[in-house]
Amino acid sequence: MFEALTQKLEGIFKELRRRGKLTPADVDAVMREVRLALLEADVHYSVVKDFVARVRERAVGHEVSRALNPAQQVIKIVHEELIATLGEPARLNLSGPKPRVIMLVGLQGSGKTTAAAKLAAQLRSQGERVMLVAADPYRPAAIKQLQTLGERVGVPVYYESGVKPPQLVARAFEQAQKGGITVLIVDTAGRSQLDEALMDELRAITQKVTPNETLLVVDAMIGQEALNIATGFQQAIPLSGLMLTKMDGDARGGAAISIRAVTGVPIKYLGTGEALDALEAYDPRRLASRILGMGDVIGLIERAEAAYNEQEAQKQAERMLSGQFTLEDFAQQLRQIRKMGPLHQLLEMLPGGMGQMARAISPEEAERNLKITEAIINSMTKEERLHPEILNASRRRRIARGSGTDVQDVNRVLKQFRDAQRLFKTLQKTGGRGLSRLLG
Ligand code: GDP
Repeated sequence: MFEALTQKLEGIFKELRRRGKLTPADVDAVMREVRLALLEADVHYSVVKDFVARVRERAVGHEVSRALNPAQQVIKIVHEELIATLGEPARLNLSGPKPRVIMLVGLQGSGKTTAAAKLAAQLRSQGERVMLVAADPYRPAAIKQLQTLGERVGVPVYYESGVKPPQLVARAFEQAQKGGITVLIVDTAGRSQLDEALMDELRAITQKVTPNETLLVVDAMIGQEALNIATGFQQAIPLSGLMLTKMDGDARGGAAISIRAVTGVPIKYLGTGEALDALEAYDPRRLASRILGMGDVIGLIERAEAAYNEQEAQKQAERMLSGQFTLEDFAQQLRQIRKMGPLHQLLEMLPGGMGQMARAISPEEAERNLKITEAIINSMTKEERLHPEILNASRRRRIARGSGTDVQDVNRVLKQFRDAQRLFKTLQKTGGRGLSRLLG
């Protein structure tokens, strides 16, 4: 799903990650690419335009988080705005007297009958007593198909021949009420195109029974045409939700993005395959991450922000600059890094100059070093951490034993620490101007 769009965006973001700082011109260049990628994925022009404008405004504006580098910030904003564009998570309205009626509408071939059976199976597994109604008397094959699917998912299918759909649905409703059915799923007739007779019929059904939900089933593979179909139905009958089918085979997932934005009708389900369990409750966060193809990166960005304590960072920076940076601070920084997850992914995320320095070392090596350094500092007494100058040969041997390392390792950590201290002293002399450059 969304492969074309995903690949495009991944390329753009890789380019973005390679750079240090972003200028407004950079943001513009990136957004031009994002815009193209979305258009190519068949997202509607007006939706793309709004989206790009919102991201650009936020990216070039003031929202500067110290926990992230500029590229990550742009990614984060694109992700957040995409979620906003994709709407709320799915909620099926199953309140009120039983049976509740869920009416599925849509064109022939949209996957409506399959969706009815999938939904029946899902609701049944949630403890509902479900009945399906075959309200498509014009196509015997459609009735047969629903009956077969109903049998497969273990849900009864109501059908009467020679009865017009509104009456048929009304009778099904009565029987459901008597039989203790809690959810009635109505598979309405599908036509090959929008027509007035169909709309009249759908309206007549809703006059007989008031649906809790009227879900429009749309094939996501048909691209822009999906938008016309959705607006056509919306003008004829009130829709409460969308089910987008065939999301598994779609290279142009843009329909999902624009259909929600243009109609304002919430997406409630995604059909992701022909199998009867291939139905997902709609989750915009998940879909946005999938579209961007970078769920891991987004997760890391969120973790980095959560682990980053602005005040603590400020205090540490001040201690560094006043030459009071101790092994305690060093240990605390390491703990903070550990909180964020696997090091090789984190290295990518370090801001600016530090990131470039970090990327020069191999990830495995860095991970090992980090563990050793942490173990060594943990084996020191508080006194030793605050005053490393008291670390004579016998103390160093004790620490090496305690941390399962060699005296050489202990010496190396102490040297790294002294180097860092010296670096901070130098920065102090330059009035801290160098520090901001170093931290990106
Ligand atoms: P209807 O005419 O709207 O009732 O459509 P059907 O339910 O008969 O589906 C039409 C075709 O699409 C069938 O071959 C289904 O197996 C297939 N189909 C339905 N939903 C999905 C889906 O989510 N993914 C894929 N790949 N195929 C689907």
